[in-house]
Amino acid sequence: MSQRLQAVKGTRDLLPPDTALWAAVEGAARRVFERYGFHEIRTPIFEETELFARGVGEATDIVGKEMYSFEDKGGRSLTLRPESTAAVCRAYVEHGMQSLPQPVKLFYIGPQFRYERPQKGRYRQFHQIGAELLGGRGAESDVETLLVLVAFLGELGFGDLQVLLNTVGDAESRAAYRDRLVAFLRPHAAELGEDSRRRLDSNPLRILDTKDPDEQAILAGAPRLEDCLTAASRDHFARVRAHLDAFAVPYRIEPRLVRGLDYYTNTVFEIVSQGLGAQNAICGGGAYEGLVEELGGPPTYGVGFAIGEDRLIEVLPQSFRERLQGRGPVVVAAMGKLPAPADGVAPLFALIEELRRAGIPAIEGSGKGGKLFEAAERQRSPYVVFLGEQEQRDGTVTLRELASRAQRTLPRGEAIAELRRLYSPAS
Ligand code: AMP
Repeated sequence: MSQRLQAVKGTRDLLPPDTALWAAVEGAARRVFERYGFHEIRTPIFEETELFARGVGEATDIVGKEMYSFEDKGGRSLTLRPESTAAVCRAYVEHGMQSLPQPVKLFYIGPQFRYERPQKGRYRQFHQIGAELLGGRGAESDVETLLVLVAFLGELGFGDLQVLLNTVGDAESRAAYRDRLVAFLRPHAAELGEDSRRRLDSNPLRILDTKDPDEQAILAGAPRLEDCLTAASRDHFARVRAHLDAFAVPYRIEPRLVRGLDYYTNTVFEIVSQGLGAQNAICGGGAYEGLVEELGGPPTYGVGFAIGEDRLIEVLPQSFRERLQGRGPVVVAAMGKLPAPADGVAPLFALIEELRRAGIPAIEGSGKGGKLFEAAERQRSPYVVFLGEQEQRDGTVTLRELASRAQRTLPRGEAIAELRRLYSPAS
């Protein structure tokens, strides 16, 4: 026997019935995003490595150690996208979207790839639902982006989510803070872990994100970014908060929140759910000012977020799952033994196709008697449709309603009309 092949480590198959849940979540995303004027963009799965090096930042973990990069047969260095913001900004510039009415509001749904250590809720191919608002107007754009996000999560029935909000300031605030933070941490360098020591030179703000309790203890005495904000950044943050208060969006200010990517300015946020443990962020985002310019476009105000769809589905409220469990298909079964046709179509197969063409979801039953009914109930089927030799001769079928166990034999056309009403969208 040859060796069995398996899905690659950190990847997985999504199977029915879960795929119905994924489709429903994505359907809800499309509905809510469109309502807020966001339209779908689909960018390629792979891009030039250079895009991420420039757009995500050389000093980030993503670019530093998590990218699936490869050389294609033409000698180009390509990378499976580890996130989509850089690609959306590239597309914005490439298609001259800055000459469209602003802001341009886009959303995307699809897989992302990062070479991370697989663990609970963390995959190497994972999925994000994200949105980007480009060419916006500062605080109001941040708020509009947060509002569509909260509306979407609300549509899914979430109640226990928290928006964690912070500002990382503008470039000037951050430069000032960076100096103060490095001056504070340098004397503690020996007590820091290897990653944080490296970040001291490359990306010191990321050290604030540490999960290490010893490092957190050191950081308790660190200077605060809040004290280095320029007047413009302070005002921006105040306006974001005032809007969120006005729209009654619950949030908590989280001074340590800095987010992993290099391009954020001012507003950054995450959404956490209690059900997820240490890896509890299901969404991260923020505003960015330099990114479009970095990719060869004009200075453009952007703000966006990415929701981890895998984690989102793991913690999906029961109410949303239940709403999805509608009516199953009718189950079609032979009563007794139907004469097999010498050639041509088996009568049961013909009946199933007739039902399906009439818009009625139908499947062939398996098993007999009690087993058949049990299986049909498990599939939340309302009726079993029986075809026996007698029905075959008379042009009738027998409908058994599973809930009442009532059985009626009626002309095929009438039965189909009745079932059709059951499955018509109005019912
Ligand atoms: P990021 O693009 O790093 O801001 O991540 C946004 C969201 O994507 C996170 O909050 C996670 O929910 C999700 N995410 C990031 N990396 C992974 C991964 N390796 N596996 C599953 N979900 C992920």
